[in-house]
Amino acid sequence: MESQRRSIGDDSSISPELDRLIRQRGRDLRLRKLDQQNAVKIVNHLIESLLEFLKNNDDQPFFREVSVLTSGSYYEMVKINKPNEFDIMLKLKVPRLVLSNLEEYQGLFYKINLFKATQTEIQHFLLEDERTVSATKIKAEMHRLVRKFINNHFQGEGWVIRRNLINSPAVTLELKLKEKGNDVMSVDIVPTLEVPQGWPQAARAGPNIDKWLGKKCRRQFVSKSVYFVPKRPKGRNLKDDAKESWRISFSHIEKEMMQYHGNKKTCCETHSNKCCRKLCMRLLKCLIEGLKQQYPKELEPLCSYHGKTAFFHVLSDRVQDSLWSPGQLSVSFMKLFGYFEQCAINGSLPHFFVREHNHFSPPAFPKRALVFLTNALREQRELGLPVLKVPSPTSALVPDTEAVIHPITGTDSIVASDSSFKHVYIYLLVVIVCVGIICVFQK
Ligand SMILES: [Zn+2]
Repeated sequence: MESQRRSIGDDSSISPELDRLIRQRGRDLRLRKLDQQNAVKIVNHLIESLLEFLKNNDDQPFFREVSVLTSGSYYEMVKINKPNEFDIMLKLKVPRLVLSNLEEYQGLFYKINLFKATQTEIQHFLLEDERTVSATKIKAEMHRLVRKFINNHFQGEGWVIRRNLINSPAVTLELKLKEKGNDVMSVDIVPTLEVPQGWPQAARAGPNIDKWLGKKCRRQFVSKSVYFVPKRPKGRNLKDDAKESWRISFSHIEKEMMQYHGNKKTCCETHSNKCCRKLCMRLLKCLIEGLKQQYPKELEPLCSYHGKTAFFHVLSDRVQDSLWSPGQLSVSFMKLFGYFEQCAINGSLPHFFVREHNHFSPPAFPKRALVFLTNALREQRELGLPVLKVPSPTSALVPDTEAVIHPITGTDSIVASDSSFKHVYIYLLVVIVCVGIICVFQK
């Protein structure tokens, strides 16, 4: 990786304008975080009511004992252009389960069976063999219950359930926020199974964090449970097993890595220890979302989880906290960008936990899309990241394919809560128009 990053994203390639742009965009992102607090209140109320509803529901006892996985800090995730998006994983209480890896998917997708036959409530969600836990049945029931919950308790409050997407594990609720010019807020509710038997073989080695977070931390991670969400692989003509498959999720570990991200434990504890790691990731996600908005069809397979994966790889290699001091924002971001670009060029972005799985390989990421991405990233680098200059204008929701592990892709409008930011945008607009005029004249 060292050699990958040296070739591209060299420090000397950062012009003063680019440096200014990266900092400016970083400030925008910080501001928008504050904006999230109101949305958090609304979501808290919704989820608490939903849990109450499930606990007391008569028609589906299996869903009575759900708990919110990652409770407490489940809004800590780094949401980018859409600060109003939330993922809530609801853990179902299950008897002992056994995993089997679906081989053609390199350790990402699994069939989940009961360890032994049971008369407990989960029996209504099994396939005919009376052992295999059906992903589609559980997802469908989650959908039905959420619909009933909204109809009974939140009728007329504006929540809408989005159409059930076959590749998404989530039931997605949306709410239009009138005070924000119809900005949309969305909540992904994902049923989740816990398998406490230890990490599957494909992830056994654990994430490569020895140099960064330490060996002890890696051992702690690997001793935790893993979770599974009802998600099938992409592609046509899936086998029956694949249609009922569950995808492994490390989002609880990812969250922890985001939160305790320093080489030293004190990183970001006080003002003098601040680092720019999280901001770098948000900038990269922002760039990805911007590109997707510009080329929705060509870059359909691209998602923010790719950015997050690249981010973790860079963190595990560029470990010193001092390298990520706030003053190093532009340099650090360009290192991350350079690494991401190099991954695209090489067609290789290994899953951070399940290393055999390459996010940039077909069918999940077709060759054509990868070539397009490579060119788009090169263009961004050569032109000084124009995609970061444009405040995203709409809150169009792009159908999500990877809803659990990362926020829905797509962008929303920038909410300039401080009027000084409006000036900045006007200024940016003027710059863009000027550049446009110059380009026209040069031609
Ligand atoms: Zn830090």
